[in-house]
Amino acid sequence: MTTPWVIGAGPAGCCLAALLADKGWPVTLLESGAMDASSPGPAAVAVQRTLALAGPSWTLLGRLGITPQQVAAHPIRTIHVSYRGQAGRVCLDASESGVSEFGHTVSYARLLTALRAAVAARPGITVHEQAVVQTVQGSTSAARVRWRGPAGAQDSLVSLAVLAEGGALTASGDALTWPYRQQALACVVQAEQPTGDQAFERFTPDGPLALLPCAEGYALIWTAPAARIAHLLQASDADFLAALQAWFGDRLGRFRQCSPRQRYPLRGRFVLQPAGRRFVQIANAAQTLHPVAGQGFNLGLRDITTLTEALGAAQPGQDPGSATRLAAYQRARRADRWTTAGLTHLLATAFALPGSSLPMSLALGTFDLAAPLRRGFARLMAEGIAS
Ligand SMILES: Cc1cc2nc3c(=O)[nH]c(=O)nc-3n(C[C@H](O)[C@H](O)[C@H](O)COP(=O)(O)OP(=O)(O)OC[C@H]3O[C@@H](n4cnc5c(N)ncnc54)[C@H](O)[C@@H]3O)c2cc1C
Repeated sequence: MTTPWVIGAGPAGCCLAALLADKGWPVTLLESGAMDASSPGPAAVAVQRTLALAGPSWTLLGRLGITPQQVAAHPIRTIHVSYRGQAGRVCLDASESGVSEFGHTVSYARLLTALRAAVAARPGITVHEQAVVQTVQGSTSAARVRWRGPAGAQDSLVSLAVLAEGGALTASGDALTWPYRQQALACVVQAEQPTGDQAFERFTPDGPLALLPCAEGYALIWTAPAARIAHLLQASDADFLAALQAWFGDRLGRFRQCSPRQRYPLRGRFVLQPAGRRFVQIANAAQTLHPVAGQGFNLGLRDITTLTEALGAAQPGQDPGSATRLAAYQRARRADRWTTAGLTHLLATAFALPGSSLPMSLALGTFDLAAPLRRGFARLMAEGIAS
């Protein structure tokens, strides 16, 4: 039996490595930073963000013993969707789709810490930290992984290389990439009149703004043109909170406090053929989505579910990187990846088109009145697009 190599110990790489180890596969995991999730490294920027994860994502994490309670996750039970300056709006309620919540928000840092603890608890996983992978080259017999660790440069031939490094490497060279005219600013804010388990998604001509309830208050993701984001980053806390108040309104009372603000440049990236000869790209290494719909890691976890199923339980002499397995994986992921990436892009751009404010506001109003449509959309939010 040969060992799958997983490149990148972010949330996706750790989750996959632990699930494969539970199926009896010995796994080698390479991480360019330190495994102590709190120490600064290439993923330090991501550590500041909050992720909204749907029910099926929590079911998968539950297989590793990670529950919403354990990572101080916060439920989202209703979502208020509006268009700035217009009357149309939609109120989505999870109970309309027969579930008690759409999902839970969790801090990236806490989730990563729990996933790395799951990796550390599994003796079948060999971890190399401070190990920077430079290239991955596929061929029929093996993937060649060139990497540099504390002991110097290494050249390893492996039967399957899984790229889960977030999109820093290029293995297949067939990625579509596109810029967004916005950047994102993320931080946590406190509001005087919190509304419990309600999330807010507000579309504006500049880009969408989301406020998600989380353990520490509200996770804010504000997207806007680069110059506006630069200005918001430089502003004092008081000026920043005043700008947020003016942009969002007083639905949550006054905004009082904010954590350090973090900027994320936004670009879309979609690998057309994520599986190649003895390598496969998953999660952000396969697709990087605009954060507007909170679908990126939810989609990545569905990559992981399918890959784990494609590999199955380890048997002596089994080849994890066989062409048949990888082709089956790629086929199985096609529809969900294209649909999720397409709908996310539509949501990120449609509301920002010139002249879209009135039609979009009317569309939201109509949508709010059409119960079956609303229920269908609520179900998508709760269960993911694959379902
Ligand atoms: C502002 C914002 C908000 C978001 N909100 C949501 C949300 O609400 N819901 C949701 O589902 N998704 C959300 N996402 C997307 C989500 O953050 C990503 O999908 C998720 O982090 C992807 O995890 P990953 O493990 O694939 O990649 P990463 O998180 O990027 O981790 C990659 C890992 O690989 C390591 N690495 C990098 N290069 C190398 C190398 N050469 N060699 C070895 N190791 C390497 C890194 O150090 C890191 O540990 C959001 C994204 C942004 C920007």
